[in-house]
Amino acid sequence: MSASLIITNAAILTMDEARPTAEAIAISGNRIIGLGSHAEVMREQGAGTRIVDAGGGTVIPGFVEGHMHLFTGAAELSHLQLYGTRGFDALKARTEAYVRDNPGDDLIIGEQADYVIIGEHEPLSRHHLDRIVPDRPILVFSPDHHTAWANTVALERAGLLKGRTLGPGNEIVMGADGLAQGELREGEAIDPVRALSQKGNRDRLGLSTGGEPDPYPGKAEFEADLETLRVGLRHAAAHGITFIQNMDGNIYTLELLEELHRRHELTARVRVPFHFKNFMDISMLEKASKMADRYVGDMLCSGFVKLFMDGVADSATAVMIDDYATRPGWKGEPLFEPARFAAIATEADRRGLQIAVHAIGDGAVRIVLDGYEAAMKANGRRDSRHRVEHVEVIHPDDIPRFRELGVIASMQPPHPPGNHGLPLEPYLSNIGEARWPWAFAWKALREAGARLVFGTDWPVSDIDPMWSIQSAMTRGRWNERMPDNRQSLHQSLHSYTADGAYAGFMEGKTGVLKEGMLADLCVLPVDLTKTDPATFKGLRPRMTVCDGRVVFGA
Ligand SMILES: [Zn+2]
Repeated sequence: MSASLIITNAAILTMDEARPTAEAIAISGNRIIGLGSHAEVMREQGAGTRIVDAGGGTVIPGFVEGHMHLFTGAAELSHLQLYGTRGFDALKARTEAYVRDNPGDDLIIGEQADYVIIGEHEPLSRHHLDRIVPDRPILVFSPDHHTAWANTVALERAGLLKGRTLGPGNEIVMGADGLAQGELREGEAIDPVRALSQKGNRDRLGLSTGGEPDPYPGKAEFEADLETLRVGLRHAAAHGITFIQNMDGNIYTLELLEELHRRHELTARVRVPFHFKNFMDISMLEKASKMADRYVGDMLCSGFVKLFMDGVADSATAVMIDDYATRPGWKGEPLFEPARFAAIATEADRRGLQIAVHAIGDGAVRIVLDGYEAAMKANGRRDSRHRVEHVEVIHPDDIPRFRELGVIASMQPPHPPGNHGLPLEPYLSNIGEARWPWAFAWKALREAGARLVFGTDWPVSDIDPMWSIQSAMTRGRWNERMPDNRQSLHQSLHSYTADGAYAGFMEGKTGVLKEGMLADLCVLPVDLTKTDPATFKGLRPRMTVCDGRVVFGA
């Protein structure tokens, strides 16, 4: 059978050790049928073959985004964007312009506000927000989404102004006047304000409760949600992403994606977890098994359980082994008791489910690894591919355990303070200088044989994989004693393709360009091996192909 598409005059980086480079690639239907020199591959040409001249640009396997949030990310594209905003005046100007343009919103939602948006010594409070928007509720999120700030009207309407008792790890920060200061830490504190919005909360269910919309959305709402996901999928395709590992989920998200797939509009492979929250009974894992059984396709699948073990280092909600440098006596509180987590991990593992746990502090990472070890002891060693998400700070004793336990380190190059324009504070002071060498320890983990999977945690960071790779390749050091964690182009791409495919149980199908594999690739406009990585940001693909279909570009 002759090729439907041939891409030639390309610098192909295959991620296949047996043939790392090639000049041309041929696709028939949804498979790769040829790879090699121009002359070799042109033998696959037939009457209907489309030939694309890559102009010397790089062709790589489609990006596997190892950790992102499709539904919320897509919904947030229409929110107030505060990335890079510094100082009260800039916050006021941007917010006022947005408020003018969006008079109908019942809750104004801002995204990407730095923890030091007002200044390093002046935390953002409801009083700042009141001076900008006095009469309508506004909620502004930090980039990590674990902290948000609300104005007085919002706090009042949500019933939080006088404070409220919350579960471990969640906090309504109180001011000296006995009223909420405006800063809300973690979901239980933030969600009552977020719920003031009549629209769009369905996009957050997979994250906030892991539950299903009740009542089930009517036709118009369902169609509106499909449109939101379409926007997100277009955004991903425009950045070369062909495989999304979603890190929140519920059945509703899967049903929406299934409908898009039925309409031939699913432009990336998507893997969606069951989100296990700490208020759930262990028997809820039955639902995870049902999702795993129902969704088993190459385009859409489930089969894993997502949990959160802790919060973030900036707000001191991440769980550390030793005290925070800035808060003596405080280590953070885990969202699951270690013994309970071990029991949940063992049961999920027994059911054949993969597990992915958000763990940012070294204490949380250890609890998760201990749980995986307990599962292995109980159920025997199997091909589990459990994952730790973020691994921002690690105790050196735990580094070799990733290889020993076969656990995947899912890490985000945009996240180290200083990368992607992120401020150094309050992060670096909070964890303290002694822990800096063990923060985002890409090099030490790789050297210890851990498999690293890369992603952006979009919408926590910009979805752009090329910017993310730039950050991986150019990361600076916070002091002289820090190891050089810069990644090579090959390491970065490998973590963004082949390793990602493995983490999604799709190796042998995608993540590598090789005859017989599914045709997932992207064509970049330049030869990456001859381009300064400091200029990668914003480098968009000319073309993205998923499952043999051109899903972006022409
Ligand atoms: Zn995430």
